[in-house]
Amino acid sequence: MPKVTIIGGGWAGCAAAVGAVKAGAKVTILERTDMLLGTGLVGGIMRNNGRFTATEEMIAMGGGDLFEICDNTSRHKNINFPGHNHVNLYDIAEIHGAVFSHLHKLGVEIIFEARIEKVTMDDKTILSVQDQKERIFTGDVYIDTTGTAGPINNCNKYGNGCAMCVLRCPSFGGRLSLGALVGVSEMVGIKPDGSIGAMSGSCKLLKESLSIEIQQLLTREGVAIIAIPEELAENHLDIKACQQYALPDFKDNIILLDTGHAKLMAPYFNLERLRKIPGLENARYEDPYTGGIGNSMRFFNMSPRDNYLQVEGINNLFCAGEKAGLLVGHTEAIVTGVLAGNNSVRFALNKPMIQLPTELAIGDAIAYVKEAMNTQDGMSKKYTFSGSAYFDRMRELGLYMTNVLDIHSKVESLGFKNIFNQNITDNA
Ligand SMILES: Cc1cc2nc3c(=O)[nH]c(=O)nc-3n(C[C@H](O)[C@H](O)[C@H](O)COP(=O)(O)OP(=O)(O)OC[C@H]3O[C@@H](n4cnc5c(N)ncnc54)[C@H](O)[C@@H]3O)c2cc1C
Repeated sequence: MPKVTIIGGGWAGCAAAVGAVKAGAKVTILERTDMLLGTGLVGGIMRNNGRFTATEEMIAMGGGDLFEICDNTSRHKNINFPGHNHVNLYDIAEIHGAVFSHLHKLGVEIIFEARIEKVTMDDKTILSVQDQKERIFTGDVYIDTTGTAGPINNCNKYGNGCAMCVLRCPSFGGRLSLGALVGVSEMVGIKPDGSIGAMSGSCKLLKESLSIEIQQLLTREGVAIIAIPEELAENHLDIKACQQYALPDFKDNIILLDTGHAKLMAPYFNLERLRKIPGLENARYEDPYTGGIGNSMRFFNMSPRDNYLQVEGINNLFCAGEKAGLLVGHTEAIVTGVLAGNNSVRFALNKPMIQLPTELAIGDAIAYVKEAMNTQDGMSKKYTFSGSAYFDRMRELGLYMTNVLDIHSKVESLGFKNIFNQNITDNA
């Protein structure tokens, strides 16, 4: 049975575990902190715009376990907010336990407080990795899902300083890229003005700190849109990692989404000014704690990779999620994670790996982003099924579909139905 070792337990790492364990591997996730899901702990937006199509494609391919968990833990389903349709919002309190239990049931070993700091190599092959407690972990193949956020020196240098976000670098040590540890020449995203990195685009307010009227509206509708008096407006659209929300509506209004907390769709907003807006007089930040000043910086240390998601230059290393390019979002992390997990097992078994066809939104996005990252202009954009440049492309190419039966038939006609739900080892 091949042994797959995953570094980083965000959405991409959890999905890679699903992909690898279903293909028949023994899987271990090594996670730096004491929780799974990484930045997904403070996310929640699913199925908006083209993410609906990608989600259903992955469900049809048999790797949709985590999407089904997100659907089952959604506080709101099929809602709309400016520029975004048919949105589900998962409950940030329920999601961790639901994912943890599912991985446990599948037999995935999860080791917390394991920050990988050292790697032993034999030429271009990884032999083992070591954490801060000097524990050594081996594997036939490794998957780097360490994300691209922080650590503090990047937030200090390229952002507004540490905003005390959910990644909790001071407590667990900052993100450390496996690719960088093994000498891969990694890439950095830029903003349209050429400066480095991008700031995370949303914060969480304690729901109970908002007026009763706003709380009730959020609970009932899932969305609250509150006009910002002109003298209080702040414009941070250009620095946002999530360009799908860089629309004027998000500058002119406070847009709140109910994920359990009130998800404020702005990278940061001065607290004193925020509290001058009617209904927000007592508002306080839950993530990042210093959401009045800044937010985490992301899109550092992306790996060069092929469309199988194998990292170029290292024999037994794959990547997924934000590591795999300028792909923003939980959906994007999950679909690349499942593919990397499955291909890592194929690689270990010396079987042909899977490249998803460009007739599918997932296959097209993986191939398109790789190409786009070869140009300076391409490096200044972010790609997501849910908006901006890549969603435009989906619509132009007819890849955006919302009829579930049509999406599943398309996957079947391409020969990919349930491809990620098959044990491919000889023990099958
Ligand atoms: C505030 C915020 C809100 C967001 N909201 C949404 C949303 O609503 N919907 C949406 O689709 N997207 C949202 N996103 C984007 C989305 O969360 C990410 O694009 C996606 O989840 C990235 O997943 P990932 O697994 O690649 O990386 P991450 O989530 O960054 O996970 C990486 C994991 O690796 C671990 N790690 C790092 N280094 C090491 C190491 N050396 N050893 C062991 N472990 C390590 C980290 O602790 C972390 O758990 C949001 C992002 C942020 C920051």
